[in-house]
Amino acid sequence: MKMNVSGLLPNPPTGGILENIQSYLKNSGIPSYRFQQLVYSLQRGCLNFEDAKELPKPVRDQLISQFGATPIPLTIIESHSSKQVQKVLFETKSKAKIETVLSHYQTGWTSMCISSQCGCGLGCTFCATAAMGLMRNLTADEICAQVFHPHWQQKLPDSIAFMGMGEALANPNIFTAIEAFTTKGYGGLSQRRITVSTVGFAPNLERMVQEYPNVTITLSVHSPFSKQRAELIPLEKKFSLVDNLTVLDKYVKTFNRKVYLAYLLIKNLNDTNEHLNALVELVKSQYRPELYHISVIRYNNAFGANPAYQQPSIESVSKFVEQLQSQGIHASRRTQFGSGIEAACGQLHAQYEQKNKKRQ
Ligand code: SF4
Repeated sequence: MKMNVSGLLPNPPTGGILENIQSYLKNSGIPSYRFQQLVYSLQRGCLNFEDAKELPKPVRDQLISQFGATPIPLTIIESHSSKQVQKVLFETKSKAKIETVLSHYQTGWTSMCISSQCGCGLGCTFCATAAMGLMRNLTADEICAQVFHPHWQQKLPDSIAFMGMGEALANPNIFTAIEAFTTKGYGGLSQRRITVSTVGFAPNLERMVQEYPNVTITLSVHSPFSKQRAELIPLEKKFSLVDNLTVLDKYVKTFNRKVYLAYLLIKNLNDTNEHLNALVELVKSQYRPELYHISVIRYNNAFGANPAYQQPSIESVSKFVEQLQSQGIHASRRTQFGSGIEAACGQLHAQYEQKNKKRQ
């Protein structure tokens, strides 16, 4: 999808730098069409105020002295491409590093996996990002800039997934970012093309399904047993799987929308028949089980994750999926691109840090 450059941004998302620039120009007595010219330049890939040649030089200089050289809050410090995946390690103005991954599917579809936090404080024991701890929530501008950055040459992805670094629902700024992604003349994406993945931050899950009922939700299950799930996802102790499924069941009832449950399959840990049967029971006990879809993900050895966790074979993942299907559950194996170039959540950052340590 090409960025919408014809319908210039009439109302920038609140709380972001564009809104600040707009009010600054207004308060400085500069006509409003100058703001639209700036947005037009940015949408055409302009990176710095200096290059926004539609604006007169004194206005550009004023903006530079007020906001710095660029309104774009991210710079690229690493980028790698394979046939199907482009991955970028961005750095924020405060030197925090975050990952963004663009996947190209055979059908021509593109999907961008974006980060919501720098690091993460939730401590899931299978995850590379957890080892970093939480540095901070990303601002709405930083979340948006991953998608709108000139690096992507003015092309928006067909879909956006909050599946990069961080627990998306632990950062309230994602609501502002989703507003921007779905605002006509800005992102212009339909809510249905946005996926929010969560390990179960129940209060903001409730807010999300109420305010953006057409956003696609993926809830990480990873074990149907509370004690074991808490070992994998410590947030279980605060907001349990049951609490989250209660929110989703109400949502399914009200909006008739499909919900995705992610199941990370780890060899000899959560791949037994007992797990399978309990997972089936869990789904069947929901109000509309046919609206739940289980995406089974093959565990990928991650830097910083519990070293005891082992990757299952592709065959055992397929078998797990088939067994779920044979018991009437909608299930599939999630296609993972990019593990070969460390594109899974947190791994690109971890690899960068390791490389830098070696250099020092
Ligand atoms: S899986 Fe998600 S929520 Fe858990 S530590 Fe990793 S980034 Fe955070």
